[in-house]
Amino acid sequence: SVFEGLSGKLQDTIKKIRGQGRVSEKDVKDMMREIKLALLEADVNFKVVKEFISKISERAVGADVLESLTPGQQVVKIVHEELIELLGREQSKVTFAPKPPTVFMMAGLQGAGKTTTAGKLANLLRKQGKNPLLVACDVYRPAAIKQLQVLGNQLNIPVFTLENNQNPVQIAKEAVKFAEMKQNDLVILDTAGRLHIDEKLMDELLNIKNTVKPHEILLVVDSMTGQDAVNVSKTFNEKLGIDGVVLTKLDGDTRGGAALSVKSVTGKPIKFAAMGEKLNDIEPFFPDRMASRILGMGDVLSLIEKAQEAYDEKKAIELEKKMRTMTFTLEDFLDQMQQIKKMGPIGDLLGMMPGVDSKALKDIDIDEKQMGRTEAIIQSMTRKERLDPSIINGSRRKRISAGSGTTIQEVNALLKQFEQMKKMMKMMSDMGKKGKKGGFGK
Ligand code: GDP
Repeated sequence: SVFEGLSGKLQDTIKKIRGQGRVSEKDVKDMMREIKLALLEADVNFKVVKEFISKISERAVGADVLESLTPGQQVVKIVHEELIELLGREQSKVTFAPKPPTVFMMAGLQGAGKTTTAGKLANLLRKQGKNPLLVACDVYRPAAIKQLQVLGNQLNIPVFTLENNQNPVQIAKEAVKFAEMKQNDLVILDTAGRLHIDEKLMDELLNIKNTVKPHEILLVVDSMTGQDAVNVSKTFNEKLGIDGVVLTKLDGDTRGGAALSVKSVTGKPIKFAAMGEKLNDIEPFFPDRMASRILGMGDVLSLIEKAQEAYDEKKAIELEKKMRTMTFTLEDFLDQMQQIKKMGPIGDLLGMMPGVDSKALKDIDIDEKQMGRTEAIIQSMTRKERLDPSIINGSRRKRISAGSGTTIQEVNALLKQFEQMKKMMKMMSDMGKKGKKGGFGK
């Protein structure tokens, strides 16, 4: 998952200090050294690391922190806050023109993920009510045009091309006119990339920029390219001027840490993060959520959004009531498993939850077969047991496993899973209530 290596190291470091009732300057120093190493290893820009560490150190060794009642937690809080700051503090949204169509221009090196991201963005923004038009401005590679057309086909989003026209500026201009006519309120220009930055490419992009005046120039950056990603961003920003960055391939981890420096080196915000090859694998970038994820504080907000997307409203309301009245049972659990399945791999979801022991669930693969066994186990319980699993002692477990043709380990695993699930449901329900007036229904 995202920043796994870095995340693991930071979490280990944090764990050491978090619960400490007494923290000395030396403890803080040791911790800073470890954080510094973890960041450098993850390929975060050296200067950025230095500044980051000095900011935290300065704040963390103050008397109000070290002499507070919970110094460990205070230090962790400071690290968290500074990480959010580093990532851009607040979410930076894309701007839409007061008078449509809004024009986005995607830029970036070849292979960064421009074309894919153009499609992903069109798909994402369509869900928010936009009516996008994709435009193929990469006239040098016929394959690139084809690729965009295939994407458009898959998404059922129109793709504008001008056959036999080798002038990207003209294509962009015509596309905007076409969009006005067809009432596409969002035009996404997929431009040509090169393997390296060169003058000719920059001139072409500048030409498009000056002619169609895009409302957003989004630079697509491959986060797996480490420091190069940062340098590329810097150059594009200086030569072309960009409004935001889309980080791609964050699912690749290895050197993704470089991405952490993009904002601070370019001064331009990260607006979206892409974490996979599928057309749904893109999210708006939230510095606070990303910081929480990296530090293992759980990404409850993302989870809630996923829940909101996947849950059917009627069931959600029912569930919420059950959670509130604490009548959520193993029978509901079966039903919930089906719902949860729609949200994606359960391991991913649990990884986002604070305080949930995802290891407990790691080996449980919720597939159809597993569902059948789960069902059998639950059906072998008495009604009383289903309503209150806490009464299921050793001999009851034996009976249930014999009755369902499963092992005691499987019964144990299920009960543990149920407890975790309950915890998760409760948390989602609480957050849902806080978030939207109708609970987690939209
Ligand atoms: P372009 O040359 O900049 O238009 O790049 P493409 O859109 O053709 O993408 C290059 C390759 O990267 C393709 O194989 C994509 O499937 C892949 N890709 C793009 N975004 C992501 C991402 O977020 N994660 C992963 N794993 N692969 C991606």
